[in-house]
Amino acid sequence: MSEPNEPAGDELSTDESLGTVYLVGSGPGDPELLTVKATRLLEEADVVLHDKLPGPEILDSIPEDKREDVGKRAGGERTEQADINARLVELAEEGRDVVRLKGGDPFVFGRGGEEMVYLADHDVPFEVVPGITSAVAAPAAADIPVTHREHASSVSFVTGHEDPTKDGSAVDWRALADTGGTIVVLMGVGKLPEYTQELVNAGMDPETPVALIEKGTRPGQRVARGTLDTIVDARDDAGIEPPAVTVIGGVAGVPEVLE
Ligand code: SAH
Repeated sequence: MSEPNEPAGDELSTDESLGTVYLVGSGPGDPELLTVKATRLLEEADVVLHDKLPGPEILDSIPEDKREDVGKRAGGERTEQADINARLVELAEEGRDVVRLKGGDPFVFGRGGEEMVYLADHDVPFEVVPGITSAVAAPAAADIPVTHREHASSVSFVTGHEDPTKDGSAVDWRALADTGGTIVVLMGVGKLPEYTQELVNAGMDPETPVALIEKGTRPGQRVARGTLDTIVDARDDAGIEPPAVTVIGGVAGVPEVLE
């Protein structure tokens, strides 16, 4: 790959007039799990565009005068994706180097792919900086290995945002039930009753272990455990709230795995 999308060496920008946009993953929330590169770019950037997902432990360490929160408007509404895209281009055209900070990895359910394509279409130099995705880190922080020789030889990352019972759902829960591997659901706190039922309907054992990990690696981390049959009650008893990941499969029965 060559210019303009690959800034050379350690320089923030290779273009005289345009700034560079760095699509940076912030990891699951523990500041020590930021990459060295993310930490450096956060220091060097002129502006950091972010939402709430990176978490206060990371966001509070960024000087307020270079932070722009695009997660919520004053009225509480989310900034539209189109407005975020336009803002990234606007800042780069002003010659500013921008970190677009995204929770976890920028390309795992983060709309980072859309932002990258928009930047490329507008000839803005960009670089993607991977981060540790919560899909793996949140389970790990709860001592859950997403693969394990005796329990799972594959792992699927899926969104739980959609209603699995509606026609044309983008996630094929029945096919997932057949993989026999671990299923990690992001954005899946609200629709937990629907997709756990869908998996049981598809023939999965209702006793299959399930764990919910809220705020993985962050100070408020909490874990609720159960089975496909009981996890909704466990969620409600513990009052688990987003951001949380759901881990479904033998690996989620970790205490037994460790014994
Ligand atoms: N790009 C992010 C995911 C964005 S989608 C990544 O790679 O991690 C937002 C979802 O990520 C949340 O609904 C939740 O399911 C998950 N998530 C992000 N941070 C989390 C954390 N610290 N603990 C648990 N889940 C988290």
